[in-house]
Amino acid sequence: MSTKEIKIYENIMKANDSIAGQVRNLLSENDIFSVNFISSPGAGKTSLLENIIPQLKNDYNIAVIVGDLETARDAERLKKFDIETIQINTGSGCHLDANMIYNPLRDINLNEIDLLFIENIGNLVCPTAFDLGENIKIGLFSVPEGDDKPIKYPLILRNSNAVLLNKIDMMELSDFNKESFYNDIKKINPQIPVFETSIKENKGLDEFITWLRQQIKNYIK
Ligand code: MG
Ligand code: ZN
Repeated sequence: MSTKEIKIYENIMKANDSIAGQVRNLLSENDIFSVNFISSPGAGKTSLLENIIPQLKNDYNIAVIVGDLETARDAERLKKFDIETIQINTGSGCHLDANMIYNPLRDINLNEIDLLFIENIGNLVCPTAFDLGENIKIGLFSVPEGDDKPIKYPLILRNSNAVLLNKIDMMELSDFNKESFYNDIKKINPQIPVFETSIKENKGLDEFITWLRQQIKNYIK
């Protein structure tokens, strides 16, 4: 990057951080706990939400903001739960920024919400760098992507509070090297909790939900 490009990047990040601060204030004034889900396309973010929302919706009033380049398909999938669902289409934008969260929040009755899920654009790179004002970030990897994603995209491990290894039902069909996957994670962020999940076979979701509930409790107390 040239000096001029670096300057532009710094200004974009500064503007984003300032709006992220406003989002954080708005959420905290309304006692809303928020989670930003980040992964490659197809790792299972929407499916994960479809499977954890039914287990959480009796205890928390949930709103979801879903980001995609085009279509409202993911939001449509989540509407069946009778929760506030907002689809953001970024056109060609490869990440959500704080402004895209701040604007729709003003249209929701935040008094009635306890838990906000944000499904970021499928991309392991810039979504990890843009603060959305959320409380925690969750990174998803999936078995078909291969075991080398942690070492190639380490930011997701540095910036997330937990990661999932999803689609473990596909382990036998692939040459995924679990040992190498965990060794790489240990090098980047040895403390991070890792949950092995299969939505298809309903594995690991209870452990993840228990952990998530604990995070919400720690925030509310
Ligand atoms: Mg999705
Ligand atoms: Zn981007």
